[in-house]
Amino acid sequence: MSIKITKEAVLDYHAQKPAGKLGIHATKPLQTQYDLSIAYSPGVAIPCQAIAEDKQQVYNYTAKGNLVAVISNGTAILGLGNLGPEAAKPVMEGKAILLKKFAGIDAFDIEIDATEPADVIHIIKALAPTFGGINLEDFKAPECFEIETALKEQLSIPVMHDDQHGTAIIAGAALKNALLLVKKEIGNIQVVINGAGAGAIACAKLIVALGVKPGNLVMCDTQGVIRKDREELAGEKSRFATDRSVHTLVEALKGADVFMGLSKGNILQPEHILDMAERPIVFALANPNPEINYDLAVNTRKDIIMATGRSDYPNQINNVLGFPYIFRGALDVWATAINEPMKLAAVEALAALAQQPVPNQVKKAYGVESLEFGSTYILPKPIDPRLITTVSPAVAQAAISSGVAKKHIGDWEAYKESLKQ
Ligand code: NAP
Ligand code: MG
Repeated sequence: MSIKITKEAVLDYHAQKPAGKLGIHATKPLQTQYDLSIAYSPGVAIPCQAIAEDKQQVYNYTAKGNLVAVISNGTAILGLGNLGPEAAKPVMEGKAILLKKFAGIDAFDIEIDATEPADVIHIIKALAPTFGGINLEDFKAPECFEIETALKEQLSIPVMHDDQHGTAIIAGAALKNALLLVKKEIGNIQVVINGAGAGAIACAKLIVALGVKPGNLVMCDTQGVIRKDREELAGEKSRFATDRSVHTLVEALKGADVFMGLSKGNILQPEHILDMAERPIVFALANPNPEINYDLAVNTRKDIIMATGRSDYPNQINNVLGFPYIFRGALDVWATAINEPMKLAAVEALAALAQQPVPNQVKKAYGVESLEFGSTYILPKPIDPRLITTVSPAVAQAAISSGVAKKHIGDWEAYKESLKQ
């Protein structure tokens, strides 16, 4: 089902007063002089002193524990490129309201005028005391890798670059389920990843963690296959260089079981996917136009499992399935990081949820009679109310088991109940 949107309608929506998509509201009464004297001076001095004596009390007396910063410098906005920090604001406001809508998390969007990694790291580090978590968004590769690594090392709150890990987690869950359907073992599959930027590198790392053999993975960029004999390679790209004798995407695709595209629209032709193995899995995730059009791909190969980043076709790989619930789980146990076990727990939870029967309210919302685990339903739908009660507890549990939680959950059933909105 394709939804028609016009430029005018989108601009009108954003311009309606108050402009933008985000506001602030008070969570305590401010009706009387008494209210004022405890919300602000002189009463407010008391929690200030309590926090000064024990920093951890900031979680008890302020909004920090439920507050995430959605931070960008606008260098890689959607698929639009470097449009600068002001132009990033509509996206970041959007991300903030998704955190609120799907996981009850308050979020500020923060757009910074800085591109040098050292400056970005310094600024974000200085802002961190305000927040319970930091969602880095739309920072360009390769700088995004250095920025995230440094902040994770230096901060003791969860930091996640969603363009990397959100994408990888959803694509990883989709891959697990697609492999189940085509009855292939992850340790035996040949994978081609087209693109070597933020999304592609994170997907490659995560699918290797899920069991893909590094030797069975070929990655391509604008220069073709990333080979060990390419002299200019540096950083994250070189980690995935191959010494197999393939030089082009087309060569690499011959006999491949999986194609993951995080590159550019319309770069695959039908004959390329005809060259792939039996029951191929094609995740063409370039937005807004996938590496190959959905209808063209499924008409070319009846045995394909196809996913895109688009909401108007089945199997949308959409980050909104992940980041709200991952931050919810991390915040609820005062996690000091979002680590690998937490990401893998999110993958498992998402994959398992898609295998469960779908509630009627979800089918109704999508206007379909039936929706069940199969080649056109490998991931839960974004409005599925079970996402929060499935993914967040899994992430929280993994934070506790992996030793990064500062708070434990005693009664899991009560916790899950509290997540229902
Ligand atoms: P990025 O960091 O800019 O990386 C893009 C990568 O694609 C670069 O490595 C670039 O190669 C490569 N590339 C561009 N054109 C290519 C071509 N014709 N052949 C081979 N490689 C090519 O971007 P990103 O954030 O990873 O996002 C990439 C795409 O995936 C975008 O369209 C984005 O919207 C989409 N995406 C979708 C989802 C989703 O569906 N959930 C999530 C994240 C991203 P060089 O390194 O040589 O420049
Ligand atoms: Mg993004």
